[in-house]
Amino acid sequence: MVRIGVFLCHCGTNIGGVVKMDQLAEYCRDFSYVSTVIDYKYLCSQPGQSIIKDAIKKYDLNRIIVGSCSPRMHEKTFRNAIKDGGLNPYLLHIVNLREHCSWVHKDRDKATDKAKSLMRAGIERAVFNKPLSTVKIPVTKKALVIGGGIAGIQAALDIADAGIEVVLVEREPSIGGRMSQLDKTFPTLDCSACILSPKMVDAGFHPNITLKTYAEVTNVSGSVGNFKVTINNKARYVHSSCTGCGDCFKVCPGKCVNSYNESLDKRKAIYIQFPQAVPATAVIDSSACLYFKTGKCKVCQKKCNINAIDFDMTDQTEEVDVGAIVVATGYDVFDYKAYGEYGTGSSNNIISSLQLERLFSSSGPTDAKVKIPGTDKTPKNIVFIQCVGSRDEKKGKTYCSKICCMYTAKHTLLLKEKIPDVQITVFYLDLRTPGKGYEEFLTRAQSQEGINYIRGRVSKLSRRPDGSVRVSGVDTLLGDIVSVDADLVVLATAVVSKNDAKDLSRILGISTDKDSFFSEAHPKLKPVETQTAGIFLAGICQGPKDIPETVASASATAAKVLGILSKDHIESLAMTTTVNETKCSGCFFCLQVCPYKAIEKKELENGEMVSTIKEELCQGCGACVAACRGGALDLKGFDNNMLLTETMSLCQD
Ligand code: FAD
Ligand code: SF4
Ligand code: SF4
Repeated sequence: MVRIGVFLCHCGTNIGGVVKMDQLAEYCRDFSYVSTVIDYKYLCSQPGQSIIKDAIKKYDLNRIIVGSCSPRMHEKTFRNAIKDGGLNPYLLHIVNLREHCSWVHKDRDKATDKAKSLMRAGIERAVFNKPLSTVKIPVTKKALVIGGGIAGIQAALDIADAGIEVVLVEREPSIGGRMSQLDKTFPTLDCSACILSPKMVDAGFHPNITLKTYAEVTNVSGSVGNFKVTINNKARYVHSSCTGCGDCFKVCPGKCVNSYNESLDKRKAIYIQFPQAVPATAVIDSSACLYFKTGKCKVCQKKCNINAIDFDMTDQTEEVDVGAIVVATGYDVFDYKAYGEYGTGSSNNIISSLQLERLFSSSGPTDAKVKIPGTDKTPKNIVFIQCVGSRDEKKGKTYCSKICCMYTAKHTLLLKEKIPDVQITVFYLDLRTPGKGYEEFLTRAQSQEGINYIRGRVSKLSRRPDGSVRVSGVDTLLGDIVSVDADLVVLATAVVSKNDAKDLSRILGISTDKDSFFSEAHPKLKPVETQTAGIFLAGICQGPKDIPETVASASATAAKVLGILSKDHIESLAMTTTVNETKCSGCFFCLQVCPYKAIEKKELENGEMVSTIKEELCQGCGACVAACRGGALDLKGFDNNMLLTETMSLCQD
């Protein structure tokens, strides 16, 4: 005999201020299976939960319906409450009276009518609710970190320090990411390499970290606690016995554009990205190597005293099992060619802020001397243009890149140190400096003699006969048209997502936002989790962040990973798919659509092939149920009877 308890939550005035709860309660009492109806101001509170527990005993209830906020908020709370009350936690059904009703309607009578329909559908559906159970799955106590910038390094170190093994995969030949390209860092102006290198070395030599550089993740299957990851280790053509002596670079005739130096110079075909690289093992870029292009050369091999160079190396694929994954793949910068007025990128004296960082750096193309690229001239009049690609819905991105005001202020201060008589003009739209010590840092830059901040958008850059650039725009504070002649223009280009972020999101089964940054599960309450259990985010791959924020998010992520990997077992989901073997025709459409590879083929005694579900992998997404034309699949807790009953009930109105 089904005995349903209906509990209606006012959610303060969120629901109670719109839906007439007394009328709704009266309506619910009329259903034959309903044994009791109770409404209360906050059912999620401890007294509210006690009301449910007490009612289960008093009325001998065996189904519970809570009409409240979204199950995303309190499903767990109410499941625990009814479990404490002695019922199987899956005998709960939540009707969303808030997001689906009171928050989207103003008319109280109409909202109450809709709430009645939703409750009726819920009550009729709940009759089919069945007790469900979970199984314990052993956890693989190893983590994968994808991306070896400061975010990935910090997350890997925190996890490894807690005694858990980490595989750190970086696509470039060295870890370090963008931070390794920077010279000094705001707000303290400490040298980037000095604070990053010790962490890189720690990560490189940590007994619990396995570094896989020049490698990429190509496939991920499985689920939280037990992911199977395929990694492609690209051929380096140099063994790890390489001492990084550099003898081979000197003799190598192969050259190509140096992307690490933001295309400001060229590098050899055999190279080490930068002096502090970890690992300090050379790599041959086969697209620039004469041997790979013409079949002739190998002079590097002759020069290498320890025979570290091996042209027969090939890409190697391997599989690793991990329990949790951290995505820390970082960012790119906006391509300013989208703005015709800033040129095509071919002009020597229009550069990006990241290029300026390389000019500042002692490992950069000019030995830390700021020169106009391609010349030996020291710039004396420099114009900075902020928000290039940021806050511009027409040609760029709608969001604020968050770091450009601060790094431009940093650049002005560093330039004043290097070139004391330099004249600097900064064109800005707004100045945004939230952060500890940030406003003071900006004020320091603004108060320096020779640094002039102008609020306004630049409309045109035109080349002058002497090779300099005339920057024309409007001072929006004074309402004046301004033009400044510059021998170097620096564009503070927006932070954008990695160009292949969508590809990785497909491999991992996680989502991205409208700007292709990876999406967090909840912007406030689950800021480092993704919607896929066991996969977490760290750093700027989620949206613009400076280094302090990046490091904080990486450590938060590490704590979440440890929360999973410190357990020996995790519970499987209860709401997984079941197969009715008599209905399965063996078409295996389901196998193709399952994003978690949770479906296998199984041979029956009569030789027929049918689908079978690997419960530990099934995430209950329901994709297979929708794909099955024979109706052979059903999702526990959402079976066809329940969904049809609920839908038919709603159709009565
Ligand atoms: P990244 O540094 O981008 O690292 C991501 C790593 O992941 C890279 O090594 C990349 O190769 C790797 N990767 C990407 N995709 C894959 C893949 N599919 N598989 C494997 N590996 C992959 N912040 C400050 O706090 N102070 C400053 O002074 C400062 N100055 C800046 C100046 C400029 C001009 C710019 C543009 C930024 C500046 N920043 C500064 C911001 C700083 O660069 C970032 O906050 C920081 O680098 C973010 O680190 P991350 O690890 O999240 O990303
Ligand atoms: Fe350079 Fe390739 Fe020749 Fe070696 S074989 S020296 S990497 S061009
Ligand atoms: Fe795969 Fe179906 Fe489970 Fe979704 S519900 S994970 S498609 S088996």
